[in-house]
Amino acid sequence: MTTNGSPTDGRTPEDFETRMARLREEMVQRQLRDRGIRDERVLAAMRKVPRHRFVPPEYVYAAYDDGPLPIGAGQTISQPYIVALMTELLHLQGPERVLEVGTGSGYQTAILAELAAEVYTIELEAELLERARRRLQAMGYTNIFFRHGDGSEGWPEAAPFDAIIVTAAPPEVPPALVGQLGVGGRLVIPVGTWDQDLQLIVRYGPEPTDYTVQSVTPVRFVPLRTRRETP
Ligand code: SAH
Repeated sequence: MTTNGSPTDGRTPEDFETRMARLREEMVQRQLRDRGIRDERVLAAMRKVPRHRFVPPEYVYAAYDDGPLPIGAGQTISQPYIVALMTELLHLQGPERVLEVGTGSGYQTAILAELAAEVYTIELEAELLERARRRLQAMGYTNIFFRHGDGSEGWPEAAPFDAIIVTAAPPEVPPALVGQLGVGGRLVIPVGTWDQDLQLIVRYGPEPTDYTVQSVTPVRFVPLRTRRETP
């Protein structure tokens, strides 16, 4: 039998998916569990969502590697550990409404859609948004709402949110996002320009200043841009 040199080299599609599932299982064990991710619902979502369908074809075999990958338009899909860590910090139980800023590939969106009731996601790059929308709809997700625009304004019509996650870094926390957190709500966001800090903001009361800020770990994300800065 000859092979045609395609990425699957004579494997059947089932072999390919089986291999991807094995890589995913290893990712969950070595990159997530061994490094302290404990939330079983988060681990189950990371085991379920096919990350290889969110990366460009040339990176399919690197989809479960321990790092970020390019997704086009100068943007990246975050490292699996960072996706899991940020998701765990949101403490999702199931009934929540979640805002995501920076749809990108839609991978983090899918993880959130597995764990919460509704996900509202905003992306500045129209092309990335449309690709993510098509991909997530093809996968059968019906609890995701998409918006093209500047996520630092939040999504006022859908607020308040139980959780907000931002996957691009602003120099400072956008006040609109804190304002759209419900009481008890949690916001996870990288803050800073070059050296960034992953922050967890918890809103404990109804007053605008009723929130705590906790620094979690140093991170490096692409910048959160305003419309004006769009290339
Ligand atoms: N969560 C994504 C990570 C994408 S990287 C994933 O899993 O693939 C960050 C994304 O934020 C990029 O797609 C970038 O275009 C987008 N972005 C940057 N500034 C933004 C803004 N002001 N509003 C919305 N999205 C923004």
